[in-house]
Amino acid sequence: MSYIPLSVPNLSELEAQHVNRALESGFVSSVGPDVSSFEETFARYVGAKYAVACASGTAALHVALQVVGVTRERDVICADFTFAGSGNPIAYLGAQPVFVDSEWRTWNMDPQLVVEEIERRAAAGEPQPAAVEIVHVLGQPADAAPILEVCARYGIPVVEDAAESLGARWSSGVLAGRHTGTVGTIGCFSFNGNKIATTGGGGMVVTDDAELAAAVRHLTTQAKVPGVGYLHDVVGYNYRLTNLAAALGNAQLARIDDFVAAKRRFAARYDQAFSDLPLVVPPRVEGFDSTYWLYSVLTADEMERDRLLEALDSAGIGARALWRPLHMQPAYGEPAHIGGHVGRALFERGVSLPSSTGMTDEEQDRVIAAVRDFFGAA
Ligand SMILES: *Cc1c(COP(=O)(O)O)cnc(C)c1O
Repeated sequence: MSYIPLSVPNLSELEAQHVNRALESGFVSSVGPDVSSFEETFARYVGAKYAVACASGTAALHVALQVVGVTRERDVICADFTFAGSGNPIAYLGAQPVFVDSEWRTWNMDPQLVVEEIERRAAAGEPQPAAVEIVHVLGQPADAAPILEVCARYGIPVVEDAAESLGARWSSGVLAGRHTGTVGTIGCFSFNGNKIATTGGGGMVVTDDAELAAAVRHLTTQAKVPGVGYLHDVVGYNYRLTNLAAALGNAQLARIDDFVAAKRRFAARYDQAFSDLPLVVPPRVEGFDSTYWLYSVLTADEMERDRLLEALDSAGIGARALWRPLHMQPAYGEPAHIGGHVGRALFERGVSLPSSTGMTDEEQDRVIAAVRDFFGAA
Protein backbone atom coordinates (compact mmCIF):
# COMPACT_ATOMS: atom_id res chain seq x y z
CA MET A 1 0.00 0.00 0.00
CA SER A 2 1.43 3.38 -0.99
CA TYR A 3 2.18 6.12 1.52
CA ILE A 4 -0.22 9.09 1.59
CA PRO A 5 1.76 12.25 2.34
CA LEU A 6 0.53 15.15 4.48
CA SER A 7 0.91 17.89 1.87
CA VAL A 8 2.98 17.71 -1.29
CA PRO A 9 3.22 20.01 -4.32
CA ASN A 10 0.77 19.57 -7.19
CA LEU A 11 2.93 19.68 -10.31
CA SER A 12 1.69 19.25 -13.88
CA GLU A 13 2.85 19.66 -17.46
CA LEU A 14 2.21 23.42 -17.10
CA GLU A 15 4.93 23.75 -14.42
CA ALA A 16 7.39 21.87 -16.65
CA GLN A 17 6.58 24.17 -19.57
CA HIS A 18 7.09 27.36 -17.54
CA VAL A 19 10.33 26.18 -15.96
CA ASN A 20 11.70 24.90 -19.27
CA ARG A 21 10.89 28.18 -20.96
CA ALA A 22 12.76 30.03 -18.22
CA LEU A 23 15.74 27.67 -18.63
CA GLU A 24 15.80 28.18 -22.38
CA SER A 25 15.58 31.96 -21.97
CA GLY A 26 18.78 31.89 -19.92
CA PHE A 27 17.09 33.79 -17.08
CA VAL A 28 17.64 31.47 -14.15
CA SER A 29 18.90 33.81 -11.46
CA SER A 30 17.38 36.70 -9.60
CA VAL A 31 16.49 39.08 -12.41
CA GLY A 32 14.13 37.99 -15.14
CA PRO A 33 10.73 38.41 -16.75
CA ASP A 34 9.10 35.65 -14.70
CA VAL A 35 9.76 37.45 -11.42
CA SER A 36 7.98 40.60 -12.64
CA SER A 37 5.02 38.71 -14.08
CA PHE A 38 4.77 36.58 -10.92
CA GLU A 39 4.62 39.75 -8.80
CA GLU A 40 2.03 41.37 -11.08
CA THR A 41 -0.20 38.30 -11.29
CA PHE A 42 0.03 37.74 -7.55
CA ALA A 43 -0.87 41.37 -6.71
CA ARG A 44 -3.89 41.16 -9.02
CA TYR A 45 -5.01 37.82 -7.55
CA VAL A 46 -5.00 38.96 -3.92
CA GLY A 47 -6.07 42.51 -4.70
CA ALA A 48 -3.00 44.41 -3.48
CA LYS A 49 -1.34 47.36 -5.23
CA TYR A 50 2.24 46.12 -4.90
CA ALA A 51 3.88 42.73 -4.55
CA VAL A 52 7.58 42.03 -4.02
CA ALA A 53 8.81 38.46 -4.43
CA CYS A 54 11.42 37.16 -2.01
CA ALA A 55 13.38 34.08 -1.02
CA SER A 56 10.96 32.68 1.59
CA GLY A 57 7.98 33.49 3.73
CA THR A 58 10.30 33.96 6.68
CA ALA A 59 12.38 36.47 4.68
CA ALA A 60 9.16 38.24 3.68
CA LEU A 61 8.17 38.63 7.34
CA HIS A 62 11.66 39.76 8.32
CA VAL A 63 11.69 42.69 5.88
CA ALA A 64 7.98 43.47 6.38
CA LEU A 65 8.49 43.87 10.13
CA GLN A 66 11.62 45.93 9.52
CA VAL A 67 10.02 48.39 7.06
CA VAL A 68 7.03 49.09 9.31
CA GLY A 69 9.48 50.13 12.03
CA VAL A 70 10.19 47.15 14.27
CA THR A 71 13.55 47.69 15.96
CA ARG A 72 15.61 46.36 18.84
CA GLU A 73 13.92 46.17 22.26
CA ARG A 74 10.50 47.17 20.91
CA ASP A 75 7.51 44.87 21.50
CA VAL A 76 5.67 43.03 18.74
CA ILE A 77 2.29 41.52 19.58
CA CYS A 78 2.08 38.21 17.71
CA ALA A 79 -0.15 35.14 17.56
CA ASP A 80 1.05 32.44 19.97
CA PHE A 81 -0.39 29.42 18.19
CA THR A 82 1.56 29.28 14.93
CA PHE A 83 4.66 27.91 13.23
CA ALA A 84 8.05 29.27 14.35
CA GLY A 85 8.37 31.03 10.99
CA SER A 86 5.98 33.65 12.40
CA GLY A 87 8.06 34.39 15.48
CA ASN A 88 11.65 34.03 14.31
CA PRO A 89 11.69 37.26 12.24
CA ILE A 90 10.73 39.20 15.39
CA ALA A 91 13.81 37.74 17.08
CA TYR A 92 16.04 38.49 14.04
CA LEU A 93 15.26 42.17 14.61
CA GLY A 94 16.07 41.94 18.32
CA ALA A 95 12.49 42.87 19.17
CA GLN A 96 10.45 41.34 22.01
CA PRO A 97 7.53 39.13 21.08
CA VAL A 98 4.35 39.37 23.14
CA PHE A 99 2.50 36.17 22.31
CA VAL A 100 -1.30 36.31 22.45
CA ASP A 101 -3.45 33.20 22.82
CA SER A 102 -5.95 31.91 20.26
CA GLU A 103 -9.73 32.02 20.39
CA TRP A 104 -11.74 28.82 19.88
CA ARG A 105 -13.87 30.39 17.14
CA THR A 106 -11.06 30.66 14.52
CA TRP A 107 -8.09 29.00 16.31
CA ASN A 108 -6.31 32.33 15.54
CA MET A 109 -5.21 35.20 17.81
CA ASP A 110 -8.05 36.35 20.09
CA PRO A 111 -8.90 39.92 18.98
CA GLN A 112 -10.42 40.77 22.37
CA LEU A 113 -7.10 40.05 24.11
CA VAL A 114 -5.25 42.28 21.63
CA VAL A 115 -7.72 45.14 22.05
CA GLU A 116 -7.54 44.85 25.86
CA GLU A 117 -3.72 44.86 25.87
CA ILE A 118 -3.48 47.92 23.62
CA GLU A 119 -6.13 49.80 25.61
CA ARG A 120 -4.39 48.81 28.86
CA ARG A 121 -1.09 50.21 27.58
CA ALA A 122 -2.81 53.41 26.46
CA ALA A 123 -4.48 53.88 29.86
CA ALA A 124 -1.24 53.14 31.74
CA GLY A 125 0.81 55.45 29.51
CA GLU A 126 3.00 52.52 28.45
CA PRO A 127 4.62 52.36 25.01
CA GLN A 128 2.57 50.63 22.33
CA PRO A 129 4.04 47.70 20.38
CA ALA A 130 6.00 48.52 17.22
CA ALA A 131 3.65 46.23 15.30
CA VAL A 132 0.91 43.64 15.67
CA GLU A 133 1.43 40.42 13.69
CA ILE A 134 -1.76 38.59 12.76
CA VAL A 135 -1.39 35.00 11.55
CA HIS A 136 -4.08 33.18 9.55
CA VAL A 137 -3.25 29.58 10.48
CA LEU A 138 -4.27 26.51 8.49
CA GLY A 139 -5.96 28.63 5.80
CA GLN A 140 -8.44 30.09 8.31
CA PRO A 141 -8.87 33.90 8.27
CA ALA A 142 -8.36 35.47 11.70
CA ASP A 143 -10.91 37.89 13.15
CA ALA A 144 -8.83 40.83 11.95
CA ALA A 145 -11.39 43.67 11.96
CA PRO A 146 -11.28 44.54 15.71
CA ILE A 147 -7.46 44.37 15.66
CA LEU A 148 -7.23 46.65 12.61
CA GLU A 149 -9.60 49.08 14.31
CA VAL A 150 -7.65 49.39 17.57
CA CYS A 151 -4.31 49.54 15.72
CA ALA A 152 -5.59 52.33 13.46
CA ARG A 153 -6.72 54.25 16.56
CA TYR A 154 -3.21 54.15 18.06
CA GLY A 155 -1.18 54.27 14.82
CA ILE A 156 0.21 50.74 15.21
CA PRO A 157 1.24 48.97 11.96
CA VAL A 158 -0.31 45.56 11.29
CA VAL A 159 1.72 42.81 9.62
CA GLU A 160 -0.20 39.80 8.34
CA ASP A 161 1.38 36.36 8.15
CA ALA A 162 -0.74 34.83 5.40
CA ALA A 163 1.82 32.10 4.67
CA GLU A 164 -0.81 29.38 5.06
CA SER A 165 -3.86 31.22 3.76
CA LEU A 166 -3.33 32.14 0.11
CA GLY A 167 -6.81 32.23 -1.43
CA ALA A 168 -8.67 32.69 1.88
CA ARG A 169 -11.04 35.67 2.14
CA TRP A 170 -13.67 37.30 4.29
CA SER A 171 -17.10 37.25 2.68
CA SER A 172 -19.11 39.38 5.10
CA GLY A 173 -18.56 42.23 7.53
CA VAL A 174 -16.28 45.23 7.00
CA LEU A 175 -13.60 43.07 5.31
CA ALA A 176 -16.01 41.39 2.86
CA GLY A 177 -14.33 40.52 -0.44
CA ARG A 178 -10.80 41.07 0.86
CA HIS A 179 -8.06 38.43 0.79
CA THR A 180 -6.10 37.55 3.92
CA GLY A 181 -2.72 39.30 3.73
CA THR A 182 -4.19 42.48 2.20
CA VAL A 183 -6.02 44.14 5.09
CA GLY A 184 -3.05 45.11 7.28
CA THR A 185 -0.28 47.60 6.61
CA ILE A 186 1.69 44.87 4.89
CA GLY A 187 1.17 41.14 4.27
CA CYS A 188 3.40 38.13 3.73
CA PHE A 189 2.97 34.82 1.90
CA SER A 190 5.05 31.64 1.56
CA PHE A 191 5.65 29.36 -1.43
CA ASN A 192 7.39 26.63 0.52
CA GLY A 193 6.84 23.13 -0.88
CA ASN A 194 4.04 22.28 1.55
CA LYS A 195 2.01 25.46 0.97
CA ILE A 196 -1.03 25.66 -1.34
CA ALA A 197 1.10 27.05 -4.20
CA THR A 198 4.85 26.56 -4.33
CA THR A 199 7.94 27.95 -6.03
CA GLY A 200 10.11 25.26 -4.44
CA GLY A 201 10.86 27.90 -1.83
CA GLY A 202 9.87 31.53 -1.85
CA GLY A 203 7.71 34.27 -0.44
CA MET A 204 5.86 37.47 -1.27
CA VAL A 205 5.31 40.79 0.47
CA VAL A 206 2.19 42.74 -0.52
CA THR A 207 1.11 46.25 0.40
CA ASP A 208 -0.88 49.18 -0.96
CA ASP A 209 1.82 51.59 0.23
CA ALA A 210 4.30 52.52 -2.55
CA GLU A 211 6.99 53.63 -0.09
CA LEU A 212 6.83 50.40 1.92
CA ALA A 213 6.97 48.33 -1.28
CA ALA A 214 10.04 50.26 -2.44
CA ALA A 215 11.67 49.82 0.96
CA VAL A 216 11.03 46.05 0.83
CA ARG A 217 12.48 45.81 -2.67
CA HIS A 218 15.54 47.77 -1.55
CA LEU A 219 16.19 45.62 1.54
CA THR A 220 15.70 42.32 -0.30
CA THR A 221 18.26 43.31 -2.97
CA GLN A 222 21.24 44.08 -0.67
CA ALA A 223 20.07 47.71 -0.28
CA LYS A 224 22.12 48.70 -3.29
CA VAL A 225 21.42 52.28 -4.34
CA PRO A 226 20.79 52.49 -8.12
CA GLY A 227 23.77 53.75 -10.12
CA VAL A 228 27.35 52.71 -10.80
CA GLY A 229 28.89 53.41 -7.42
CA TYR A 230 28.03 50.22 -5.45
CA LEU A 231 26.53 52.36 -2.75
CA HIS A 232 24.63 50.60 0.06
CA ASP A 233 22.83 53.02 2.36
CA VAL A 234 21.72 50.40 4.91
CA VAL A 235 22.50 46.75 5.63
CA GLY A 236 20.41 44.78 3.15
CA TYR A 237 19.74 41.11 2.51
CA ASN A 238 20.03 38.75 -0.43
CA TYR A 239 16.38 37.79 -0.24
CA ARG A 240 15.50 37.76 -3.95
CA LEU A 241 13.43 35.06 -5.58
CA THR A 242 15.12 33.43 -8.56
CA ASN A 243 13.56 33.64 -12.01
CA LEU A 244 13.40 29.83 -12.19
CA ALA A 245 11.40 29.73 -8.97
CA ALA A 246 9.10 32.51 -10.20
CA ALA A 247 8.47 30.55 -13.42
CA LEU A 248 7.25 27.65 -11.29
CA GLY A 249 5.16 30.11 -9.30
CA ASN A 250 3.49 31.49 -12.43
CA ALA A 251 2.32 28.01 -13.39
CA GLN A 252 1.01 27.41 -9.86
CA LEU A 253 -0.85 30.73 -9.77
CA ALA A 254 -2.58 29.83 -13.03
CA ARG A 255 -4.04 26.83 -11.15
CA ILE A 256 -4.75 28.47 -7.78
CA ASP A 257 -8.54 28.43 -8.13
CA ASP A 258 -8.43 24.67 -8.67
CA PHE A 259 -6.14 24.23 -5.65
CA VAL A 260 -8.47 26.23 -3.38
CA ALA A 261 -11.49 24.31 -4.68
CA ALA A 262 -9.71 20.98 -4.07
CA LYS A 263 -8.82 21.89 -0.45
CA ARG A 264 -12.41 22.96 0.25
CA ARG A 265 -13.83 19.82 -1.32
CA PHE A 266 -11.56 17.56 0.74
CA ALA A 267 -12.49 19.51 3.89
CA ALA A 268 -16.20 19.02 3.20
CA ARG A 269 -15.66 15.27 2.63
CA TYR A 270 -13.68 14.95 5.89
CA ASP A 271 -16.32 16.96 7.82
CA GLN A 272 -19.06 14.69 6.52
CA ALA A 273 -17.14 11.50 7.22
CA PHE A 274 -16.27 12.50 10.81
CA SER A 275 -19.65 13.96 11.81
CA ASP A 276 -20.46 11.03 14.11
CA LEU A 277 -16.97 10.70 15.64
CA PRO A 278 -15.76 12.21 18.96
CA LEU A 279 -13.52 14.67 17.09
CA VAL A 280 -13.54 18.46 16.82
CA VAL A 281 -13.39 19.43 13.13
CA PRO A 282 -11.85 22.72 11.87
CA PRO A 283 -13.69 26.00 12.42
CA ARG A 284 -16.42 27.02 9.99
CA VAL A 285 -17.06 30.67 10.64
CA GLU A 286 -19.77 32.49 8.70
CA GLY A 287 -18.07 35.14 6.53
CA PHE A 288 -14.53 33.81 7.09
CA ASP A 289 -13.83 31.61 4.07
CA SER A 290 -11.06 29.19 4.98
CA THR A 291 -9.05 27.26 2.41
CA TYR A 292 -8.32 24.40 4.88
CA TRP A 293 -4.63 24.41 3.99
CA LEU A 294 -4.03 21.50 6.39
CA TYR A 295 -7.27 19.90 7.50
CA SER A 296 -6.80 19.40 11.25
CA VAL A 297 -8.95 17.72 13.87
CA LEU A 298 -8.84 17.77 17.68
CA THR A 299 -8.78 14.57 19.71
CA ALA A 300 -9.90 14.33 23.34
CA ASP A 301 -6.40 14.74 24.81
CA GLU A 302 -2.67 14.40 24.20
CA MET A 303 -2.67 10.64 24.77
CA GLU A 304 -5.37 10.08 22.19
CA ARG A 305 -3.54 12.39 19.78
CA ASP A 306 -0.38 10.31 20.07
CA ARG A 307 -2.28 7.07 19.62
CA LEU A 308 -4.08 8.43 16.52
CA LEU A 309 -0.77 9.63 15.03
CA GLU A 310 0.69 6.19 15.62
CA ALA A 311 -2.29 4.39 14.10
CA LEU A 312 -2.19 6.59 11.00
CA ASP A 313 1.55 6.19 10.67
CA SER A 314 1.30 2.41 10.70
CA ALA A 315 -1.46 2.65 8.07
CA GLY A 316 0.97 4.53 5.80
CA ILE A 317 -0.71 7.90 6.32
CA GLY A 318 1.27 11.11 6.78
CA ALA A 319 -0.51 12.81 9.67
CA ARG A 320 1.18 15.34 11.98
CA ALA A 321 0.65 17.10 15.31
CA LEU A 322 -0.11 20.83 15.38
CA TRP A 323 2.49 23.36 16.55
CA ARG A 324 3.75 23.84 20.06
CA PRO A 325 2.71 27.43 20.91
CA LEU A 326 5.53 29.94 20.58
CA HIS A 327 5.44 31.02 24.25
CA MET A 328 6.42 27.41 25.10
CA GLN A 329 9.44 27.41 22.77
CA PRO A 330 12.87 27.48 24.45
CA ALA A 331 14.07 29.48 21.43
CA TYR A 332 12.38 32.64 22.72
CA GLY A 333 13.47 32.35 26.35
CA GLU A 334 10.64 33.39 28.61
CA PRO A 335 8.58 35.63 26.37
CA ALA A 336 5.53 37.63 27.41
CA HIS A 337 2.32 35.65 27.02
CA ILE A 338 -1.20 36.99 27.19
CA GLY A 339 -4.34 34.91 27.61
CA GLY A 340 -5.10 31.34 28.53
CA HIS A 341 -4.26 28.01 27.02
CA VAL A 342 -6.38 27.61 23.89
CA GLY A 343 -3.21 27.37 21.79
CA ARG A 344 -1.80 24.80 24.16
CA ALA A 345 -4.96 22.70 23.85
CA LEU A 346 -4.80 22.93 20.04
CA PHE A 347 -1.19 21.71 20.24
CA GLU A 348 -1.95 18.87 22.64
CA ARG A 349 -5.05 17.65 20.82
CA GLY A 350 -4.48 18.56 17.15
CA VAL A 351 -3.77 16.22 14.26
CA SER A 352 -3.37 17.42 10.66
CA LEU A 353 -4.55 14.96 8.03
CA PRO A 354 -3.39 14.52 4.42
CA SER A 355 -4.46 17.60 2.48
CA SER A 356 -2.51 17.62 -0.79
CA THR A 357 -4.52 19.21 -3.60
CA GLY A 358 -3.53 16.28 -5.82
CA MET A 359 -4.83 13.62 -3.41
CA THR A 360 -7.32 11.21 -5.00
CA ASP A 361 -10.73 10.44 -3.49
CA GLU A 362 -9.57 6.84 -3.03
CA GLU A 363 -6.58 8.04 -0.99
CA GLN A 364 -8.81 10.30 1.11
CA ASP A 365 -11.20 7.40 1.64
CA ARG A 366 -8.27 5.38 2.98
CA VAL A 367 -7.47 8.18 5.47
CA ILE A 368 -11.13 8.38 6.49
CA ALA A 369 -11.33 4.61 6.95
CA ALA A 370 -8.19 4.61 9.12
CA VAL A 371 -9.57 7.40 11.34
CA ARG A 372 -12.96 5.71 11.66
CA ASP A 373 -11.26 2.41 12.37
CA PHE A 374 -9.23 4.07 15.15
CA PHE A 375 -12.48 5.14 16.84
CA GLY A 376 -14.00 1.71 16.32
CA ALA A 377 -16.58 3.10 13.88
CA ALA A 378 -17.57 1.17 10.75
C1 LIG B 1 5.48 28.36 6.21
C2 LIG B 1 5.24 29.43 7.19
C3 LIG B 1 6.13 30.51 7.36
C4 LIG B 1 7.48 30.56 6.72
O1 LIG B 1 7.48 30.45 5.35
P1 LIG B 1 8.79 29.83 4.64
O2 LIG B 1 8.54 30.12 3.20
O3 LIG B 1 8.82 28.39 4.96
O4 LIG B 1 9.97 30.58 5.16
C5 LIG B 1 5.78 31.52 8.23
N1 LIG B 1 4.64 31.49 8.92
C6 LIG B 1 3.76 30.48 8.80
C7 LIG B 1 2.50 30.54 9.58
C8 LIG B 1 4.05 29.40 7.96
O5 LIG B 1 3.20 28.37 7.89
